[in-house]
Amino acid sequence: MSNLRFQALNAVLTRTIPEVKPPSHKISEYFGINVFDKKKMKEFLSKEAFESVNNSTNFGTPMDREVAEQVASAMKAWAIGKGATHYTHWFQPLTGTTAEKHDSFFEPSGESGLEKFSGEALAQQEPDASSFPNGGIRSTFEARGYTAWDPSSPAFIIGKTLCIPTVFVSYTGEALDYKAPLLKALGVLDKAAVSVAQYFDKSIEKVNASLGIEQEYFLVDLALYNARPDLYLTGRTLFGHMSAKNQQLEDHYFGSIPERVQAYMQDMETEALKLGIPLKTRHNEVAPSQFECAPIYEEINLAIDHNQLLMDLMDKVARRHNFKVLLHEKPYAGINGSGKHNNWSLITNTGKNLLSPGKTPKNNLMFLTFFVNTVKAVFEHSDLLRASIASVNNDHRLGANEAPPAIISIFLGSQLNDVLDEIETSRVTSKMKQENALWTNIPKIPQILLDNTDRNRTSPFAFTGNKFELRAVGSSANSANPMTVLNLIVADQLNKFKVEVDKLLKKGEKKDVALMTIIKKYIKESKAIRFEGNGYSDEWATEAETRGLANIKTTPKALDVLLTDTTDKLFEETGVYSKRENHARHEILLENYYKKLQIEARVMGELVNNIIIPTAIGYQTELINNVKGLKDIGLGEDTYAAQLDIIKKISTHVNFIKSNVHDMIEERKKANVIEDAREKSIAYDEKVKSFFDPIRYHVDKLEQLVDDAKWPLPKFRELLFIK
Ligand code: ADP
Ligand code: MG
Repeated sequence: MSNLRFQALNAVLTRTIPEVKPPSHKISEYFGINVFDKKKMKEFLSKEAFESVNNSTNFGTPMDREVAEQVASAMKAWAIGKGATHYTHWFQPLTGTTAEKHDSFFEPSGESGLEKFSGEALAQQEPDASSFPNGGIRSTFEARGYTAWDPSSPAFIIGKTLCIPTVFVSYTGEALDYKAPLLKALGVLDKAAVSVAQYFDKSIEKVNASLGIEQEYFLVDLALYNARPDLYLTGRTLFGHMSAKNQQLEDHYFGSIPERVQAYMQDMETEALKLGIPLKTRHNEVAPSQFECAPIYEEINLAIDHNQLLMDLMDKVARRHNFKVLLHEKPYAGINGSGKHNNWSLITNTGKNLLSPGKTPKNNLMFLTFFVNTVKAVFEHSDLLRASIASVNNDHRLGANEAPPAIISIFLGSQLNDVLDEIETSRVTSKMKQENALWTNIPKIPQILLDNTDRNRTSPFAFTGNKFELRAVGSSANSANPMTVLNLIVADQLNKFKVEVDKLLKKGEKKDVALMTIIKKYIKESKAIRFEGNGYSDEWATEAETRGLANIKTTPKALDVLLTDTTDKLFEETGVYSKRENHARHEILLENYYKKLQIEARVMGELVNNIIIPTAIGYQTELINNVKGLKDIGLGEDTYAAQLDIIKKISTHVNFIKSNVHDMIEERKKANVIEDAREKSIAYDEKVKSFFDPIRYHVDKLEQLVDDAKWPLPKFRELLFIK
């Protein structure tokens, strides 16, 4: 039997492309058909009940029991009408994936039974789910976990199951998921942003954050994937020599989409659109077999639910096409990794984007207020933002090929940069104050911003016309974590801004003067975070250091900021995390970090011992037999010099690999007995992970030496180019 690699390659060659037929050529005819959205709610609910749900989604007003009953029975009727048999509370535990536990609508009663779904079952469930990470919050006596309905994100059907988006909290009320803190942060932001927006426009009563998530991913044929245990156990290749051709010609980016991939995309998009995920864009990315999709932006809580759902869906649909979706931040060393650009802005109930420069000076001042406060917030809390994107996967990506560095900086574009410089150096004279001539002093913000080509792809946080784009988020991450932090720090900054402006107002300063004075002060204070140059360059790392900006390259250290008093205070004062929750999360993040490295180290050891070394020795033995044969027929060393050279090289590499794997295992044993999660993580990073690259180097050398027909693991050229 040929090895798995060749069986896989054969399988790929015989693939046919499944036919994909969207329900209609018009998306509008099937968009959201699997969602119990506002339109359907209106159809199924009484007017009062509908209004009550609306208030509850918009303003968080509690919903009474009766309304919940009505909604539940409406949902049930709709779902059963669409063939659903089960329902589940759908939540986002700290594993980073989504979770569900299905219950049947059917309840036996008397001789037969009935389909039931009560308001109570809608509002709250106790899935127990005691095995999810909780960082010590759930000791056994209080082990219960509850899910509670989030009416602001509509229920949807997958397969035959009605899914109800929920938060997941412990018996004692602590958040055990990503959604609960996000909702809290959004509440804090809403309040803070409204109170500042009211300086300009009294009709603003609500501010929502919006989010558009660009999702990068790799596709690989399922058979090739299954022939790589490192890929299916860790999500990335731990070995593999770089393909002769990779991304150097840059011929993949925006290139024509291969037919097989196009069919997959269409199928996946159709499913997503049915679930109300407004996918809009698809294209090839820079690396071979790397792609991106992006929806139209939505209210942030929904956008994140949709992204979580999308990641799940992408994987499910891929199976039908014999593809595997790789969401890992760095599946292949040496070529681009994948990110998840988070496009963020603030939108009012009046429909105004607070980060969109206005046409009138007054609007400009409002824009400047929110814009400069965001810059200041990121400046003040760059370490917290860095921590929010930290993960073992993202450590490979940040600072590597075409990925943002681990240094948080902000790119504004030359025009806005000039505007801020101008404000900073301008003098507010007493004459201007008296004449209230400040408006004319505000630099004009050009209207051409939106289509400016002044894009800087190397910045982790960039202003792109009417939104900020956080690009440092990893492709597999739940955006809720960085978005909780971003919204929270901006809210906190806006609150401080309000206090400072009000103080000046109390002193009798005119409103515009007060606003401009504080804006000017913030521009000056936060200057160090602004950087317009090439974020990928070494010079930037040096300059950032002189500016006092942090460049923390690894997760365990990036997370330290969570344990500072400042962070505890910020989280507690805003009510987003209690100290206990925050510290529990810190623990969970670290556990996740070292456990993943532990798995990678184990997989590496197994592959080396059971696959790589036996293969190399097998080939070496053939060469030895060949040399013996040549000697037997009386030929001299000149006829087998090359063979001898390869034989020796194989021994060198095998010896190196063998002894290093042994030493790595010894270090792992030492790390495993460390109790403290931070210390353990650092030991895994510095003592265990440090073996990965040298071992890999020698394995990849063997890959180049050994007969191609014997090499058992699909090679990079096959993983990246064969579809
Ligand atoms: P790119 O960043 O590649 O130029 P686009 O400008 O098309 O791409 O936008 C990328 C994402 O940003 C999309 O999801 C889009 O809907 C979203 N987006 C656009 N405007 C906003 C906004 N005001 N707030 C949040 N997201 C936005
Ligand atoms: Mg973008």
